[in-house]
Amino acid sequence: MARIPINLSTGSIDVDSSQGETVIVGIDLGTTNSLVAFIKDGEPYILTENGKHGLVPSIIHFGKDGDIVIGEEAKEKLSSAPERTIYSAKRLMGKSIDDLKNYTENLGYRIVGNVEDEGKLLQVKVGDTYYNPIQLSSKLLAELKRKAEALLGKTVDKAVVTVPAYFNDAQRQATRDAGKLAGLDILRIINEPTAASLAYGAGLDIEESENVVVYDLGGGTFDVSILYIDKGIFEVLSTHGDTFLGGDDIDDLIVSHWKEMYDLGKVDSYLLKPLAEEAKKTLSSADTAQVKFHDTVLEITQEQFDQLIQPIINKTLDSCQKALTDSKLAKSAIDKVIFVGGSSRIPTIKKKVGQFFGKTVYDQINPDEVVALGAAIQADILAGNRKDLLLLDITPLSLGIETVGGLMDTIISRNSKVPTQVGRNYTTSVDGQTKLRVTVYQGERDMVINNRKLGEVILTDIPPMAAGIPKIEIQFLLDANGVLTVKATEERSDTKTSIKIQSQYGITDEEMGKMLLESIQNAESDLKERSIQEAVTEGRMVYNSNIKFVKQNESWLSDEQKEKLRELNNLLDAAIESKDKDAINEKLEDLNHYSRPLAEIALDKVVEENLSGKSLNDE
Ligand code: AMP
Repeated sequence: MARIPINLSTGSIDVDSSQGETVIVGIDLGTTNSLVAFIKDGEPYILTENGKHGLVPSIIHFGKDGDIVIGEEAKEKLSSAPERTIYSAKRLMGKSIDDLKNYTENLGYRIVGNVEDEGKLLQVKVGDTYYNPIQLSSKLLAELKRKAEALLGKTVDKAVVTVPAYFNDAQRQATRDAGKLAGLDILRIINEPTAASLAYGAGLDIEESENVVVYDLGGGTFDVSILYIDKGIFEVLSTHGDTFLGGDDIDDLIVSHWKEMYDLGKVDSYLLKPLAEEAKKTLSSADTAQVKFHDTVLEITQEQFDQLIQPIINKTLDSCQKALTDSKLAKSAIDKVIFVGGSSRIPTIKKKVGQFFGKTVYDQINPDEVVALGAAIQADILAGNRKDLLLLDITPLSLGIETVGGLMDTIISRNSKVPTQVGRNYTTSVDGQTKLRVTVYQGERDMVINNRKLGEVILTDIPPMAAGIPKIEIQFLLDANGVLTVKATEERSDTKTSIKIQSQYGITDEEMGKMLLESIQNAESDLKERSIQEAVTEGRMVYNSNIKFVKQNESWLSDEQKEKLRELNNLLDAAIESKDKDAINEKLEDLNHYSRPLAEIALDKVVEENLSGKSLNDE
C-alpha cells in the first residue's frame, strides 16, 4: 500500500472531497510512536512530512522555560533531561501507583500517587507540576491533530483511535478523555489487531472466508487476536495478550546483559537503553551489533540475543495458544498470520511464530503503519464511504457484578461481540431492603477482589418487601467502543437507576470540564503566575544573601553602609511580600546597584586574607 509524501512547503493536498472541510482521521496512539492516517480516493495513506516516515515518537519534553516539545525533538532530550522527558505514557493509562510498582524504578522521570486522592489516578511529576496520564496522552493527540491540520489543510476534530485489544474499560475511557482534552471527538476506539486486519483485509485478496491471526508485538504491549473474515465482515473470535510486554522489555534485557558482561560501574539503565535499542535493530539484519558507551564497545551477537529473548517469545506463544483455545479453532484452521508492531521485525520472532502456526507470516504492510491504516479505513466506514466492510469487535475482558460472599457474577463474558446488551435478574437478601448497591467489576477471576472495580450503581427507593420478592433486573449495555452503561430496575415498582460506568482511575465529566476550561483560561495566567514566582524566588535569594553579607563583613563596613544595605533590603522584602513583579525587580536593581562595589571590596579582602594565610572570619 503506497503512501504519499505531503510536503509542507507545497501547502495542503486534496483529501477525499466527500468528507467536506473536515476529515476523520485514523490515529495509532502508540506506546513508542504514534501515527495518523487518512483516506484519499478510497485508499488509506499515512500522513508524512517532507517525504519522511510519518512516525511521531510518543515523547513529551517539558522545558524549564515552560515550553513543551513533542516527538523527535523531545526524543533528543531523553538522555540530557530524563526527568523532564516523558515516554511510554500509554503504559500509565488507567493505572494506579500500585499497579505499576515494579515498573516505575527504571523510568528516568518521576511517578507519584495522586496528591489529592491517594491511590487514585497516578501522576507524573515534572519540576513542580503534576500531570496525569490523560493529560499526557492529550498532549500527544493535540500535537497529532495540529500536524494533521497543517498537512491536510482541513479541520481535524474527529478520529478513530486504536488501543491494544487488552485495554480494559478504565484504559479505554482514559484514551477517550485524552481525545476530548485535545479537542478531538473520538468516534470509535478500535482494537489495534482488528485495525491491522482491516488494513490487510481491505488491501489483500481474502478468499471467501478465512481465519486470520494478528500477532502484534510493539514497544510496550503484546496482543494476539484471531479473526474470522467472511465477505467483508470482520469478526473477532478471540483475543489475548499482555499490556506489559514488548520491545521495551527486550531493550531492558540487553541492558542487563551488558551490565553483567562489562564493568560499567554504577550507570543508570536509561542511559544504556537507547544503545540497546540501536543494537537490537541492527540485529534484525546483521549477525552482531556493536555500540559505544563512553570508551567501552558493547557487543551482542545474534545467538546471545536469540537466547535472551526466548522467554519473551515463549510468553507470546502462550498467549497465542490461549487465543486459539478461546476461538475453538485448531491450528490447522488458521489461514494467515499477520505481523504487526515494530518488534515483529525481529527475524527469530518471525521464525518461531511461523513455526508455531505452521504458516508463513504476512508482513507486506509496514508493521509500523498497518494499525493506523486500518484505523483510517474504520474512519471511512463510519463516514459512510465503505459499505463493503463491517467490523464486529469484541470485549477482551468479562464484566460482572459482586454477589453475596464477594463472588463475581459475570454478565457479559469476554470475547462477546460489541455492541451488546445483556440483562439478568436478582433479588434482595434482607426483609424490607429499600436500597441495593450494585458493584461492577471487570476481569476473569472468581472473587471480585482479584478483578478490577469499575464503579457502582445504587438503586434506591425500593418499596419495602420481604426478602426475595423484589425483581431487580441489572442490564449491561456495552457500546461499540467497549464502554459500559449499567441499568438497574426494580420491576414490581418500576424503580430505575442507570449510570455510565465512570472508571475508578479516570476522571469525572466534571473534572474533565474543569481541566478543559483551565487549560484554555489559564494559559496566560499560568505564564504570569510563573514569572511572579520566579521574581519572588530570586528576590528572596538576594534578600537572604544580603543579610549574610552584612553579618560576614561587619568589621569593615561603615555604619552608614550597613544602614543603607538594611534599608534597601527591607524595601526588597516589602516588594516580595506584595508579589509585584515589577516592584521586586526595581528593588533588586536598587540593591544590586548599591551593593556591587561593596561586594567587590569584600572579594578583594578574601583574596588578600587567603594570600596571608588567614580567613576573613578569623579577624
Ligand atoms: P511500536 O510500538 O509498534 O511502534 O513498536 C516499537 C518497538 O519496535 C520499539 O521497541 C522498537 O525498538 C521496535 N523496533 C522497531 N524496529 C525494529 C527492528 N528493526 N528490530 C527490532 N525491533 C524494532
